This record gives sequence, C-alpha cells and structure tokens, in this order.
Amino acid sequence: MNMTIRGFLIDLDGVVYTGGNAIPGAQETLRWLSREGYPFRFVSNTTRRSKASISRRLAEMHLDIRPEHIFTPAVAAASLIRMRNYRRIFLLTTGDVHLDFEAAGRVRSWDGADVVVVGDAGNDFTYKAMNQAFRLIQAGVPFLALEKDRSWMDTDGLSLSAGPFVAALEYATGSTAELVGKPSPVFFQTALDSMELAAGECAMIGDDAYTDVRGAMNMGMAGLLVETGKFRQDILSGMPDVPTAVLHSLADLPAYLKNPDNS
Ligand SMILES: [Mg+2]
Repeated sequence: MNMTIRGFLIDLDGVVYTGGNAIPGAQETLRWLSREGYPFRFVSNTTRRSKASISRRLAEMHLDIRPEHIFTPAVAAASLIRMRNYRRIFLLTTGDVHLDFEAAGRVRSWDGADVVVVGDAGNDFTYKAMNQAFRLIQAGVPFLALEKDRSWMDTDGLSLSAGPFVAALEYATGSTAELVGKPSPVFFQTALDSMELAAGECAMIGDDAYTDVRGAMNMGMAGLLVETGKFRQDILSGMPDVPTAVLHSLADLPAYLKNPDNS
C-alpha cells in the first residue's frame, strides 16, 4: 500500500495486553513511537470496565498510557446519549461500566428507560435481563450496542463477546442495534480527530481481523493485524481482502515501519 503512516490507532485487549499481562515488547514499542514522534491513540471495544478502571489496570501492567488517549464505547455512548437527551438507561453491562454513564449524568432504570444499551455483560447476561431488554426494544425504545464482536480471548480461552447477545435481541425484535464501538466510522473518527490526522495518514493495529483491521481499511486507514490475542490463522485466510500487513506482535512495529516491504 502506497501511503505514509503518520499516526496510529491501537487496540488494547489482544494487542497491548492479553489475559491480564502486557504483550512482551508492547511497552518498548509505545515508548519508541513517542520518541520517534508518532502520535497514537487507543481504541478499545472493551465494555467490561470503566475508562478509569482500564487506566488503573494498564498502570498495574506498567503500561504508561494517558487516560485521555483511551477511547471506549461506553464513554462514546454516554456522550451520544447525553446529546440526544436520553436520561434513563436500561444498561446491560457488567463491572463498573455504569460509572462512565453516571459521570455523564445518566441514571439506570429497569423499566421506563429512554434507551437500551448492551455491552459485554459476561455472567450478567441473564435470561431475566435479556428478556427485559427484549421487552423494551419491542416496545420501541432505541437500542445501542457498545460492540458487536463475536468473541474475545479470556485467560481460560476464547469467550463470547456482546455480538451474539446483540444478535439475539435483533433476531427477537426485528430491530437493528445502533453500533457505537469499532468498526463504527464515527468511533474511529473521534480518535483520529483528537490527533488531527486524516484516515489516510493512519494505521489501525488490532487482533480482530474484522472490527479492527477491515473496519479501519474501509475508512481508508492501513490495517495491521497482529498474531496475538484472539488472532486465528483460519480467520485471516477467510478474509475477503488481506490486511495491509500481518505482524507477529506489536513489538514488530518498529521493524515494519523501517522496512514495510518485508512483512
Ligand atoms: Mg482486541
């Protein structure tokens, strides 16, 4: 691909860390990018933690990442919901993600909600909660999906993400969720705007061939797929268009930038 890469959007889970540990060489690569003067932002589809809790966890892994450089679907959704003046949210998430919505002045509501928001709720995806989401959407309440990823790599193996549950609600109601996280162009664009760079000047680095790499390439970014996290060879082989490059891990980025033709 004939383009000059001036900045990066970098996925977190599966690229910078996996299963609670930093990817070997990730920290050095981030420092190298800073030294070389490349701007970068983190665009994550993680919806199990608030942004503050993601920052703390990165610090525990000795990853020095400024909170204002992290873009999450929950924070994007909270600002969207505030802009649309929805006050009461039926929130189907887990952990402390509700903090991002409360920080935006929103309140949680079981019935009489103005909007239904579904993220990766993990063990909180109960029949009761899914059924209540179903009833609200069926009654015409707008429906936001924080992400629609099929799976993610947990410490004990590949695990269901929010996508299959969002698809179940779409199937039951005939309504389509409005997607907030990757690969929504609006989500990528917010992070690009904060660097004052155009899509054609940036590369997205991710372990998800579709939401990260294909999503970014559809917007005119370069798409760099890493072989860490949830990467699987058969998913790469089945892609309709090949990534700009496939890197063994984030640690290989400096070598790739010095010599893009060898990847
Ligand atoms: Mg990932």
